[in-house]
Amino acid sequence: MTIPFLDLKIQHQDLRSELTQAFNEVLDSGWFIQGNQLALFEQEYASYCNTKHCIGVGNGLDALHLILRAYGIGAGDEVIVPSNTYIATWLAASYAGATPVPVEPDLLTYNISAELIEAAITPRTKAIMAVHLYGQVADMDAINSIAGKYGLKVIEDAAQSQGALYKGRLSGGLADAAGHSFYPGKNLGALGDGGAITTNDDALADKLRMLRNYGSQIKYKNEVKGFNSRLDELQAAFLRIKLKKLDQWNQQRKALASIYQQGLQGLTSLTLPSVPEWADPVWHLYVVRSARRDDLQQHLQSLGIGTVIHYPIPPHLQGAYTELNLSPGSLPISEKIHAEVISLPLDPYLSIADAGRVVAAIRQFYA
Ligand SMILES: *Cc1c(COP(=O)(O)O)cnc(C)c1O
Repeated sequence: MTIPFLDLKIQHQDLRSELTQAFNEVLDSGWFIQGNQLALFEQEYASYCNTKHCIGVGNGLDALHLILRAYGIGAGDEVIVPSNTYIATWLAASYAGATPVPVEPDLLTYNISAELIEAAITPRTKAIMAVHLYGQVADMDAINSIAGKYGLKVIEDAAQSQGALYKGRLSGGLADAAGHSFYPGKNLGALGDGGAITTNDDALADKLRMLRNYGSQIKYKNEVKGFNSRLDELQAAFLRIKLKKLDQWNQQRKALASIYQQGLQGLTSLTLPSVPEWADPVWHLYVVRSARRDDLQQHLQSLGIGTVIHYPIPPHLQGAYTELNLSPGSLPISEKIHAEVISLPLDPYLSIADAGRVVAAIRQFYA
């Protein structure tokens, strides 16, 4: 029997009747953009994240991009980004016209290293993007305090961290604003693309509601050159159903992660995730590091166990960023992580028994 890396069909089978009913309701309403479902989801998600506002948008990349636009960050400005992240974080800065300035991660948590941020700040720096990679929050108090000292905005990339806690406080409400992704594979995933911004900043929320909708608050009155990036009614209706399950799903992820943590303990050639005492991660991904990563992946594949590399090539070595002239070796910590990481199967519908089989297969590889 094979263990796929992720199989969303099982989750959707479980929710099939509720999702179908939501589909029928939206279909019958005849209203597909900026309606009641979006308004309700925005209320419910803001309340979940413990923030004043939630603004639904088309996807996670747009969420991050529009936050920068709404703050007036653009050409000539610099945005500090983690060197170790999915490329979307960098692209958000580029879309706004700003330059992403990478800062290396902590090799234990894989998140941006707060101690290294200050050295990257210049008179052109306007914001810091903090990514909560793999579902574990970055050290937000340290990041916010540096930002406070230099008058910078702090934006959370919460695409992978729905429900994660930092010192008991929820991801999405830990900085000036946060971008969320509802890409299907995320902890809270739509049946297509979707995203949102959460913030306590009233003025920012007003600007974002215009920017996502052609720069318009009143129909056919366009105050600024906006974008078309809206979370549609169907996705909002599906997300409302899934949001009710999110905490339960995250608990299941934690149970599976602890099976991996305990089962894989003591393998000296394998580096397990390290969780600072202030973090309560939601395990969007369970990522281990191995110098023999590719062999390990092949071994697991031969036993029918699916794994994925998050991510194989760091943003600074992608063709998309040749303009920055960052050669191999220029960001060694991120490069080491990219060369060694492998994500094990982990989703709320993976059984405890299957997680045990993954543990046994890895132990066999190192035996
Ligand atoms: C998924 C993801 C995004 C982008 O989200 P989309 O909805 O795919 O645009 C941004 N940042 C990180 C860290 C992500 O994992």
